[in-house]
Amino acid sequence: MVSFKDLGLVNTRDMFAKAIKGGYAIPAFNFNNMEQLQAIIQAAAEKKSPVILQVSKGARSYANQTLLRYMAEGAVEYAKELGWENPQIALHLDHGDSFELCKSCVDLGFSSVMIDGSALPYDENVALTAKVVEYAHKYDVTVEAELGVLAGVEDEVSAEESHYTRPEEVIDFTSKTGCDSLAISIGTSHGAYKFKPEQCTRDPKTGLLVPPPLAFDVLEEIEKKLPGFPIVLHGSSSVPQEYVEIINNNGGKLPDAVGIPEDQLRRASKSAVCKINIDSDSRLAMTAAVRKVFNEKPGEFDPRKYLGPARDEMKKLYAHKITDVLGSDNKAL
Ligand SMILES: [Zn+2]
Repeated sequence: MVSFKDLGLVNTRDMFAKAIKGGYAIPAFNFNNMEQLQAIIQAAAEKKSPVILQVSKGARSYANQTLLRYMAEGAVEYAKELGWENPQIALHLDHGDSFELCKSCVDLGFSSVMIDGSALPYDENVALTAKVVEYAHKYDVTVEAELGVLAGVEDEVSAEESHYTRPEEVIDFTSKTGCDSLAISIGTSHGAYKFKPEQCTRDPKTGLLVPPPLAFDVLEEIEKKLPGFPIVLHGSSSVPQEYVEIINNNGGKLPDAVGIPEDQLRRASKSAVCKINIDSDSRLAMTAAVRKVFNEKPGEFDPRKYLGPARDEMKKLYAHKITDVLGSDNKAL
């Protein structure tokens, strides 16, 4: 049993309370490798932004849960070395799917876990979430739960009301489970293809796809039912078209990739939304940088020469999100 506190990590309770009051959101960036982690910490340290390091199922099978935990411990020390005296870094399990997995992360030193029972019948989601909360809170680890169904990259993307979180359930759910934050579904989705072209309109000037807006009316209803309760948005990458273009111009093929426009996320950040998950955008930044080096310098075979520029590009992206979209800069001085 390792406490996250001994690793210099923090849970999300204070972060979220301050974010709601201050009208900004905390970035939750997924990480799978060293370069990505370096970029996240460099950006957060430079901007003095609280940050949530997320470990997904894919990351656990790719990089190993234990190794990632030790990397996060190293990240705290690295942040201090970069001159960030008071690093506010949480280590979070993204989309935990069982009590056992959440328990193993709590025991390993994670400061926050998500239990995603959103695909289960309502009562089972309540029971599973409550069980995780009961265990995690013994160790002061915070718990994110989910209500409503988000479409994934392979799922049938549908804007039907039934996929959205039902505001009439949120009071019952949060009071029965005791969860610390709630991920909701208001039209965001996972991956780089968040909408089908037929769901979008096309900008007549640029020819680019313009996605339908998020369901802010649903968010507002939820806020009314749960005043001051931390809300989380998953699947909130914007799929920057400049990266898509670099990828496509250097041998890649990402036709009609589309994300959530940044002005919508800016609006959400000012509300009770206090955690915004961004993963695909850093994948795109990394891929764009690597493809460019490969295309322009076919003789290059030193990984540092293409992973280095990839890291720099990701850092730029993270810093931009912190300052220009979420507004979390200078909140962890
Ligand atoms: Zn997610």
